[in-house]
Amino acid sequence: MKIDIEIAQAAEVWPIERIAQAAGLQESEWEPYGRDKAKVSLAKERSQTERGKLILVTSINPTTAGEGKSTVAVGLADAIQATGKKTMLALREPSMGPVLGMKGGATGGGYAQVLPMADINLHFTGDFHAITSAQNSLAALIDNSIYQGNPLHLDPRRLLWPRVMDVNDRTLRHMVLGLGGPTSGVPHEGQFDITAASELMAILTLARDLEDMKARIKRIVVGYTYDKEPVTVAELGVGGAIATLLKDAIKPNLVQTINHTPTLIHGGPFANIAQGTNSVQATEAALRLADYVVTEAGFGADLGGEKFLDVKAPILGKTPDTIVIVATVRALKLHGGVAEKQLDQPDLPALERGLANLGQHIKSMQRYGVPLVVAINHFTSDTAEEIEAIKAYASAKGVPAVPADVWAAGGAGAKALAAEVVAATKRPGRFVPLYQPDDDLTTKLTKIVRDIYGGQGIELSTKAKRQLKTFKQYGWDQLPVIVAKTQYSLSDQPKALGAPTDFTIHVREFVPKLGAGFMVALTGSIMTMPGLPKVPAAKQIDIDNQGHISGLF
Ligand code: ADP
Repeated sequence: MKIDIEIAQAAEVWPIERIAQAAGLQESEWEPYGRDKAKVSLAKERSQTERGKLILVTSINPTTAGEGKSTVAVGLADAIQATGKKTMLALREPSMGPVLGMKGGATGGGYAQVLPMADINLHFTGDFHAITSAQNSLAALIDNSIYQGNPLHLDPRRLLWPRVMDVNDRTLRHMVLGLGGPTSGVPHEGQFDITAASELMAILTLARDLEDMKARIKRIVVGYTYDKEPVTVAELGVGGAIATLLKDAIKPNLVQTINHTPTLIHGGPFANIAQGTNSVQATEAALRLADYVVTEAGFGADLGGEKFLDVKAPILGKTPDTIVIVATVRALKLHGGVAEKQLDQPDLPALERGLANLGQHIKSMQRYGVPLVVAINHFTSDTAEEIEAIKAYASAKGVPAVPADVWAAGGAGAKALAAEVVAATKRPGRFVPLYQPDDDLTTKLTKIVRDIYGGQGIELSTKAKRQLKTFKQYGWDQLPVIVAKTQYSLSDQPKALGAPTDFTIHVREFVPKLGAGFMVALTGSIMTMPGLPKVPAAKQIDIDNQGHISGLF
């Protein structure tokens, strides 16, 4: 059996001109980045054209390996494209830290992949580096302002702007900066987050255009004064410079799937610590260019799915026409109590116990009023009885469940799924938002916990309660909420699998992200800088003298 990189290396990659033409882009709307990648900026007039159908791929709570959302999204788009319909994918950019860690890349898998796989998973067109540099430049400008007489009276103990790096490095989580005497700055505590968790990543991904991005950057609150008043980038006077550093990163990247379906890959915020969706600009561009757009949101429907619908969709001005929930026999058995190492063994009773997890995600997505389809991502170890059990369970809830074998067969393995999804996009949906924009933070959080996670409500730490009082004074108490939570469970306890119901979500702390325009609620022990596992994926990756890469997955 070939691994992902071997399949990708054997595939034919069309010159990017051909993909740009297939996508319907005019000469002036794209610029090549090498032979197989391009940056895209759509002409203004496009905003007058009709938008295609939007298909959102999400999933049940995953195993540590992922549920195959990206893989299914790629295979589904290839299958719709193969029927002659103009189709595009709009996906997130992989973060490089996890590529060397445990999770591997994020360009799909098997015969459902996006190319050039190695480039996209490593440095791609440099967007992550630009965001990293912009975030760290702003950190240096803040520290410099404090060093140069501190005209804004910033309290170095109350800064909100971490440095970032696209590396899984737990040793950078807490540190003291500015040591070395008066010429080396003012000593204070600091931290590094992973770039995918940065506010600039969230801003770039939610901005409608360059102007909107610049305005958002100026609204960023970088810290508080000694009198506890918020200080913004606008007050520092460097918003224009930071936006300038992102001038190319803000343009979506054009690539292709193994079957040459045009694909925009842009923005890569994590879904357990940020909004977890690709950029508004890329989704919008794909909707203007294609009749069918397949997009994906990170982790399960409780994380990326909810955030797509409650945070991204209002900015995009469009809700999905169909939601696809990816489920696997393996993950359902995990939810039914089987140990991770035994997931290859048939176990119908465990699968039946685990179906409750799928049930909660069906229920939570059904409440939005969007047509649903369950995609069963087929693994070679699945049995016919296990697949039938999932179909019967979903069907009893009024949702079609269709197996897809895209990993082994590419788009050809998703013909039935594509037909079901395309039919679902034609069914009338009536979007019912989860909360109203003017609901306060507590109300929004409680609705997320009850209606999406299936829990009882929220419990705030003393610190979180105190923060809510101050946020009211600043007028920040009605922002959309991003819950930073484990991806493994509907609750904030990673080991509470299946569909727990009697839980409360514990909010440890709020982190205001005024530029991104949301409030992050940190729950459980979620980290904004991941670490590496005992045996990192980096141990398998190699490159030979001809530049031939091996071991990437
Ligand atoms: P997600 O988007 O849900 O995180 P991915 O699509 O990135 O998941 O898939 C995670 C990993 O699982 C990839 O390495 C991919 O090759 C592998 N994978 C996905 N689907 C299958 C499948 N049906 N059979 C075998 N491996 C798969």
